Amino acid sequence: MLTDYQLPNSQGFFGEYGGQYLPETLIAPIHELTKVYYQAIADPEFQATLSELLHHYCGRPTPLDKASNWTKHLGGAQIYLKREDLLHTGAHKINNAIGQALLAKRLGKKRIIAETGAGQHGVATATACAKLDLDCVIYMGAVDMKRQALNVARMRLLGAEVRPVTVGQATLKEAVNEALRDWVASVETTHYILGSALGPHPFPMIVRDFHRVIGVEARQQCIERTGRLPDTLVACVGGGSNAMGLFHAFIDDPDVAMIGVEAGGHGIKPEQHAARFQGGQLGILQGSKTWLLANKDGQIEKTHSISAGLDYAAVGPEHAYLKDINRAVYHYVTDDEVLDAFQEIADQEGILPALESAHAIAYVKKLAPTMSPDQTIIINLSGRGDKDVEQVVEALNMKL
Ligand SMILES: *Cc1c(COP(=O)(O)O)cnc(C)c1O
Repeated sequence: MLTDYQLPNSQGFFGEYGGQYLPETLIAPIHELTKVYYQAIADPEFQATLSELLHHYCGRPTPLDKASNWTKHLGGAQIYLKREDLLHTGAHKINNAIGQALLAKRLGKKRIIAETGAGQHGVATATACAKLDLDCVIYMGAVDMKRQALNVARMRLLGAEVRPVTVGQATLKEAVNEALRDWVASVETTHYILGSALGPHPFPMIVRDFHRVIGVEARQQCIERTGRLPDTLVACVGGGSNAMGLFHAFIDDPDVAMIGVEAGGHGIKPEQHAARFQGGQLGILQGSKTWLLANKDGQIEKTHSISAGLDYAAVGPEHAYLKDINRAVYHYVTDDEVLDAFQEIADQEGILPALESAHAIAYVKKLAPTMSPDQTIIINLSGRGDKDVEQVVEALNMKL
């Protein structure tokens, strides 16, 4: 079985996935980024600064919370929640934003750009930039800006400039394109804080590594609480950063099953979902070779999910690799199942999860009863649901 998992390779590939499909101008700077990143993580002073920020500023370690009521209700495996929703800014994203902001300082770059879909990565980046005194420009699709007006206000209050992107679907994919365009013109002074385990090497590796702490903590906490490793890990997969963060520390433990849950939207029909492993194909998007949703002519397909954070046409390359080697499996749940799970976990555990995280919950709602009470599941509760309350109320036709 797998031991000593060490990927990506020096070319940035996980098997055949990943790589660096980039314009010429970015090749040298991205090699510089890779070099400085390796120096940084080997430097005890960098690690100490990062640990201190993660602990005192972000709120790590996050609890591993036993969902006792819900476990009893479902009557199967013991369910634990890794509470990333309790981190500063309300989701796992701050782990990566603060890590990369520190990296930018080491690179001597004072200006940060980032893309955002739902606005969570934009808020985390704007927060890290305020804390570490960096200039911050966030690219966001105009449609997303309307849907997530509260997060736009948060970013602006944190001192970031939010630039609307109006081309195409005016959502996340277009925002990434604009950020890349900015970077080509500004790379001397600017670091691009990419928000998921996506894009050209070294980003899938860097983002994974900064989130790896999730699984490292969960592993130790699970052993403390139950005396052994968990049987199954479950996490939602947009680009794949929270899932890689949980999975990575367990890859060399073949008895720990890893399940990624994608957005099934209205079902697996063209433009109605974002389950890349269901209706997808191999292709290249935004610097990386991976599974993505495209039509017969190779045009990137529109996607749909009730959760903006999972609404993206490509999946991170490391997930494509883990699927190929059968180390992880990928399922999907529909919007309706997600709404149902959202209400159930609120009712049973007093937690409003992010709609993204509710995908993992919806899958476990089906999985846990098929497992036995001496088995353990850990769900990555990637974020809190405050940002989604208005949307859920509308979807349920609830009166406030
Ligand atoms: C952004 C986001 C996601 C999806 O991104 P990944 O990179 O797949 O983790 C999931 N959950 C929350 C709460 C998010 O904000």
